[in-house]
Amino acid sequence: MDPVLVVGASVGGATAADTLARAGVPVVMLERDTSYVKPCGGAVPPVAFTEFDLPETLISRKVHHALVHSPSERVVEIEVAGVHHTDQDYIAMCCREEFDRYIRQRAVQRGATLIEGQLVDLTFDKDGVTATYRERFGGARQQLRAVTVIG
Ligand SMILES: Cc1cc2nc3c(=O)[nH]c(=O)nc-3n(C[C@H](O)[C@H](O)[C@H](O)COP(=O)(O)OP(=O)(O)OC[C@H]3O[C@@H](n4cnc5c(N)ncnc54)[C@H](O)[C@@H]3O)c2cc1C
Repeated sequence: MDPVLVVGASVGGATAADTLARAGVPVVMLERDTSYVKPCGGAVPPVAFTEFDLPETLISRKVHHALVHSPSERVVEIEVAGVHHTDQDYIAMCCREEFDRYIRQRAVQRGATLIEGQLVDLTFDKDGVTATYRERFGGARQQLRAVTVIG
């Protein structure tokens, strides 16, 4: 059976690939640059850690209060709290590099294949799709058959 192709192995793609791999579906992640770190504040709601079975070791800091400074020097204080106080009244601050790497590696451990290359073309037919990609190192063009694509 041809795999599902997931283009982009950042947080969204790697999570999709991990979900498919856990369900026993063959899956290939195509990522143009695994060393790329997405510009991101790294703020994640705590519920994501239970929902996506992520370890708390990925949390570098728990933020309960924030001060927002405007250019006109107004300062607003924000308390991170729900309607009902719980022990999850914080924002988890994460290092995006570690966060993405963890989810990507977990998907690979569960059976996903990671290819470092840039998608350049997709051709659909009645049986699936042919993806053309350029390998990151060497730049050779390669083709891959897939049943469908997640981008
Ligand atoms: C400045 C900034 C701050 C942010 N702060 C926060 C925050 O604090 N909290 C929060 O939850 N969200 C934040 N976000 C939003 C968050 O970064 C995005 O919602 C999230 O990264 C989207 O994930 P994604 O996997 O869909 O896409 P992306 O993270 O953008 O990943 C796309 C991946 O696809 C790869 N790719 C692209 N084209 C190709 C191709 N042709 N072939 C192969 N691979 C390809 C890229 O290299 C990349 O790895 C912030 C965003 C920005 C810009």
